[in-house]
Amino acid sequence: MKPKLEVKDLSYSYHELSGETIALSHISFDVRDGEFFAVVGPSGCGKSTLLSLLCGLLEPEEGEILIDGIPRAESGSVIGYMLQRDHLLEWRTILSNTALGLEIRDARRTQRARRSAWTRRLPDEESLRSLTAMLRAYGLESFRDAKPSQLSGGMRQRAALIRTMALKPDILLLDEPFSALDYQTRLEVCDDISSIIRTQKKTAVLITHDLSEAISVADRILVLSSRPGRVKAILTVAFGPDAAGPLKRRNAPEFSAYFDQLWKELKCDETSQ
Ligand code: ADP
Ligand code: MG
Repeated sequence: MKPKLEVKDLSYSYHELSGETIALSHISFDVRDGEFFAVVGPSGCGKSTLLSLLCGLLEPEEGEILIDGIPRAESGSVIGYMLQRDHLLEWRTILSNTALGLEIRDARRTQRARRSAWTRRLPDEESLRSLTAMLRAYGLESFRDAKPSQLSGGMRQRAALIRTMALKPDILLLDEPFSALDYQTRLEVCDDISSIIRTQKKTAVLITHDLSEAISVADRILVLSSRPGRVKAILTVAFGPDAAGPLKRRNAPEFSAYFDQLWKELKCDETSQ
């Protein structure tokens, strides 16, 4: 079976008046359908650049990105992303925030079809029903009419995930989505969100500098070198049936061996500089 996502020999540099910054150099990897794939690497090694390339905010300088075997731009695939900041709009209710992705998509479609000005469209009945069902499933039903400031950091991230999931993305990209949360909340939200992604069998790419987080959620972990980011290793992570879910994985005996292995990969990068 074809991989869901193929990254082939991808390179990217930023060009500024002050000079060129090579962010990524000859990156290749595949992500299978339904796989939870993590990318780790030191700060500034090009992780967010990789994510921007995957979702089409940047165009590769070299190399290509295929989704279901088709070049990204032509594939018509929906790519959802979740960032460190939840970007919820304070003047909207939680329900209305979760509808924002759908509103933007529909407004864009209308604009393209009619070549008309941007018009705000409210989601249809069916979308509203599905958003309400997700709010219920994610424990936010009683907050549907609340404003974002009334929610905890973890609840806000769940609302942001609903906004993304409502678009039924083929691939979900997560750029350090838990790093703004305090430690306790971060463990809980990571557990919550990864179980939602697993249950829905979404293909997900999680970017993180937190090795424990990567081991606790991923099927495989790509280790990037310091800038320019190059593929140093791809590690397969497998836990026994008793360690389903991030919190259980953290307490499993295999955890520390994976941690040591990742630590060494990153360390030997530092010493070779
Ligand atoms: P990471 O997410 O791993 O911390 P980034 O992808 O954000 O790394 O950045 C990789 C490198 O590219 C860094 O050295 C950063 O300073 C540089 N960089 C990122 N964005 C820009 C930009 N818009 N213009 C110029 N350089 C950038
Ligand atoms: Mg980053």
